[in-house]
Amino acid sequence: MKVTEHFEKAKGETLISFEILPPLKGGGMQAIFNTLDSLMEFKPPFVDVTYHREEFLYKKRPSGYYEKTAIRKRPGTVGICAAIMHRYGVDAVPHLICGGFSIEETENALIDLNFLGINNVLALRGDARQFEDRFVPEDNGHHHAIDLVRQIEEMNNGKYLDASITNGEPTDFCIGVAGYPEKHFESPNLAADLQFTKAKVDAGAHYIVTQMFFDNKKYFKFVADCREAGINVPIVPGLKPITKKSQLNAIPRKFFIDFPDTLVSEIMKAKDDQAVRQIGVEWSIEQSKELKAAGVPCLHYYTMGDNNTVKTIVQAVI
Ligand code: FAD
Repeated sequence: MKVTEHFEKAKGETLISFEILPPLKGGGMQAIFNTLDSLMEFKPPFVDVTYHREEFLYKKRPSGYYEKTAIRKRPGTVGICAAIMHRYGVDAVPHLICGGFSIEETENALIDLNFLGINNVLALRGDARQFEDRFVPEDNGHHHAIDLVRQIEEMNNGKYLDASITNGEPTDFCIGVAGYPEKHFESPNLAADLQFTKAKVDAGAHYIVTQMFFDNKKYFKFVADCREAGINVPIVPGLKPITKKSQLNAIPRKFFIDFPDTLVSEIMKAKDDQAVRQIGVEWSIEQSKELKAAGVPCLHYYTMGDNNTVKTIVQAVI
């Protein structure tokens, strides 16, 4: 079933969903099953699985020169999605990115997903690789998420890259895209970012999932701005609890978001990470309760390998 159909079926009730990461290469599926076994009691209608582009590693050789190798540290997104659907009967949403894919490889990936019965996709651009200062697409790859949305939409209309395919079977993907209540860091300003988000929806995206935020006012303003701009699709808040003092710097550096003053000062006063976790959990519970009371379609938790913390929060919210 499509993500948007789950929202329609819920008739205004707030759903709970999760995002998980594939294990590091060399890890097995059991870790994924252990995570999901512990979260299934919340009956998530869908689970997102992130996609990780290959990174370049530089190894120093005896000659002193550096050898460049490409490695994908977390492969397996599509296989994990298929395994989730098979084992739990829950819809899986693979993230699909522009980075690392030519348009032909994108088409082939979408054909695989379609044949596996996976008809949800979160369409993203992906970030710059480590050691690159900006996003570099593949030759003949997409530059922005909107191009990926357009390609999926074409396939939904039975149009494949090979123009000689005149009666191609239409796919039926439900397309999600990313939204940024605090602006994507490359955008000139919030208004421009909003227009790019609107363009993704106009191109065929069916719903938006937000970057994490810690101040609900920013989410509510983002939703209001979207509605004013004519973006009428569901906007799912993405949530992540803070659990370590080091995240006070690491999260803004990686995700380009601000922490509210009260949360920062409470965490600064915490004597250790156990105390930080307690504050982070309570903050996330309050955030979740307020969002639920406001009638958001879904609370979408970024587990980032810490299902126990997320579980504690969801137990207090439902
Ligand atoms: P885009 O929509 O392409 O936007 C990128 C930038 O370009 C923005 O500044 C935008 O305003 C600007 N822009 C858009 N269109 C145009 C245009 N036509 N002309 C000029 N500028 C334009 N990354 C991963 O690698 N794997 C994942 O699994 C993953 N999951 C994510 C899940 C969520 C919910 C979110 C919010 C992010 C996720 N990311 C993931 C990170 C994401 O790939 C990065 O934030 C990336 O930098 C931008 O992706 P996007 O899809 O928003 O890109």
